[in-house]
Amino acid sequence: MLISLSSLCLYRPLRTTLFFSTHHLLSTPLSSNSLVHIWSYSSSHSTQVSIAPANVEQNEEQTIGVPKVDVLKQKLELLGIICDSSCVPGHYSNLLCPKCNGGQSMERSLSLYIVQKGDLARWRCFRTDCNWAEQVFLDGKAGHDGVKEKEVQFSRQMTKESLRLEPPGEKLTAYFSERMISEKTLWRNGVMQLSSEDVMAFTYRQNGLLVGCKYRTIQKRFWLEKGSAKILYGIDDINDAAEVIIVEGEIDKLSMEEAGFCNCVSVPGAGAGKNSAKLPPMEKDTAFRYLWNSKLYLDKVSRIILATDNDAPGQALARALARRLGTYRCWQVRWPKKDEFSCFKDANEVLKYMGPDALRKVIESSEPYQQCVSEADKVV
Ligand SMILES: [Zn+2]
Repeated sequence: MLISLSSLCLYRPLRTTLFFSTHHLLSTPLSSNSLVHIWSYSSSHSTQVSIAPANVEQNEEQTIGVPKVDVLKQKLELLGIICDSSCVPGHYSNLLCPKCNGGQSMERSLSLYIVQKGDLARWRCFRTDCNWAEQVFLDGKAGHDGVKEKEVQFSRQMTKESLRLEPPGEKLTAYFSERMISEKTLWRNGVMQLSSEDVMAFTYRQNGLLVGCKYRTIQKRFWLEKGSAKILYGIDDINDAAEVIIVEGEIDKLSMEEAGFCNCVSVPGAGAGKNSAKLPPMEKDTAFRYLWNSKLYLDKVSRIILATDNDAPGQALARALARRLGTYRCWQVRWPKKDEFSCFKDANEVLKYMGPDALRKVIESSEPYQQCVSEADKVV
């Protein structure tokens, strides 16, 4: 009896709100998604913000004595965005999106950011079939607070047609085959080529939709499609993964698949940023934006195997990733010896020269990151 009562209490706020706020439903034009809107509108009662008369535009005078950020949150609530204690200026929060309710899994897909001064909030829903992205200013003026328009533009919807992509032709298929990457793996990962050109096109997808594309010539020249979302390559493959392998290139991700590992993602570009003593706050950590944008996926993971390149930049990247992901759940790959003087550089080299079974063994014998670091310290 006691148990059922306490579990009932957990749901009480929503129900109470429903009963007490029907007048809001009748008096406001807040559309169809009523449950969310009712909750959001009336939850203002619990804050110290006084609600402005419905037909009066919020202005500077009304905000006197009330923290700016509370007024901003009130504006957000009117749009159905329910702020919680994580919504503080200068930080990203993950909230429930009122447009799509986070889909079937009801994930907190809306990433909200309130600027430091508390007079602008912008958001984006990361569910690609929703993608709701807007901003609201405290005083209703556009371009306020020196925020550049560019900063609040989000990636456009891409299609294979709009990017002029086609399945890889003979030349590229042969290139991949020489690297032991099969046509089946190319197909499953949506690897394409630029129409009538021998340029590889690695399509970045999220929830199956095209959100970015990285091009690569055989001569190793790279560029990104304009407007590409900053996420990990192969993110859909780690949706429900408890263990994840992170590599440093799209071809290494494909190589892992040849060795039997689909739970692998690649960073979109090399580079470990500055190795400062203190990590920058998430929103200023621009070199790792792709990692923070993939946070919802990585938070659920208990073991992360770092399989970056076996060179100085690759090891710096592993360090930078481990610091951000938590060294306690990171493992590090040791690349096998190539000859007396050197080791293999990456997953594709191991696959090409030693085969898929050897690559699988390399991954399976990776070691806890903290152990690797302390051993490296001993050498120094
Ligand atoms: Zn949404």
